[in-house]
Amino acid sequence: MMNIPLVDLKSQLKSIRHDIDNAISRVLDSTQFIGGDDKTRFEADFAQFCNVKHAIGCSSGTTALHLALVACGVKPGDEVITTAHTFIATAEAIIHAGAKPVFVDIDPITYNIDSEKVKAAITNKTSAIIAVHLYGQCADMDPLLSLCKKHNLKLIEDAAQAHGATYKGKKAGSIGDAATFSFYPGKNLGAYGDAGMMTTQHDTIAELARALLDHGRTEKYKHHLVGYNYRIDNMQAAVLNVKLKHLAQWTQARQSIAAYYSEHLNNESLMLPQALHGDHARHLYVIRTSHRDALQQYLKEQGISSGIHYPIPLHLQPAFAYLNYKVGAFPETEKAAAEILSLPIYPEFSREQQNYVVSHVNSFVTNEVSQPC
Ligand SMILES: *Cc1c(COP(=O)(O)O)cnc(C)c1O
Repeated sequence: MMNIPLVDLKSQLKSIRHDIDNAISRVLDSTQFIGGDDKTRFEADFAQFCNVKHAIGCSSGTTALHLALVACGVKPGDEVITTAHTFIATAEAIIHAGAKPVFVDIDPITYNIDSEKVKAAITNKTSAIIAVHLYGQCADMDPLLSLCKKHNLKLIEDAAQAHGATYKGKKAGSIGDAATFSFYPGKNLGAYGDAGMMTTQHDTIAELARALLDHGRTEKYKHHLVGYNYRIDNMQAAVLNVKLKHLAQWTQARQSIAAYYSEHLNNESLMLPQALHGDHARHLYVIRTSHRDALQQYLKEQGISSGIHYPIPLHLQPAFAYLNYKVGAFPETEKAAAEILSLPIYPEFSREQQNYVVSHVNSFVTNEVSQPC
């Protein structure tokens, strides 16, 4: 029996260990722990990677989201529209900005926000929309861009899972008024600790964000704004500088694994993910079946880890009970949450491991699903 994790950070570290050790040693020797050359270089190189004017290092994807909202002018009492099917950080950031999250349902093919439903959720309090590029695939941005233009709203991309993804030729992070990335260790570009990034094409938003993330200071002890300590640390930037050089190749590896899955998994009994509008960064490979729980249990017995991203939609999270959403509010999100399963995918995932996963998933669906239930 093989033992297959959902992600494997060890094999990647092994492949770059020498460069990582050197990068960390350099930071130690420099004693530049906050700010410094690695941070400056990482921001410049990541901006280039996203084809965007400004990249601003942050302490996490969550703080980057909060920062982006405030820098885009979202203020207490506002409403911010986002998807009900995402990681909780997207909505937490809205609440930390003093605004109210307004959830909408997803498109069941892409699992991303349904732009048709966004239209109906806009009120005179709405100030922004957060589009999440879930699983590594960009949300359908054109309809959202035109809605934002028409109603004078800011469009923020939560690109935490979508480093390097494209939408009609444009890089994730370069499309909205601002965008945010996470470098949580398991993300496509992962630090060895917490880190994140905010990107924007706008000079004024960038300037405000840079001031806010460092205590609102303009000089060392002169503060024009009440800000935050949301800085990236130089040690993480040094690690990310090493890893950014490999990101394009790692993304290609993910894409080729996804293509192999799509070619070999039983697509009559399973709904397989589809890539529309551009390059899918393949952070997660999510299949769908009404026999999800039994399949997950079966795979576990075969030594195969899998995940559910995410099992409880945001509108049904206990933390958001005060928003008064009811079961049934977002049928596509709720149906997806009950049927989705994320299969192992990471750049170092071998063909042999993949064949093992494919054969067990397929044997489960032919044996179990073909029986009446
Ligand atoms: C990971 C993630 C975040 C939060 O990023 P952190 O770096 O963990 O704070 C936000 N949104 C989405 C969609 C994510 O997947």
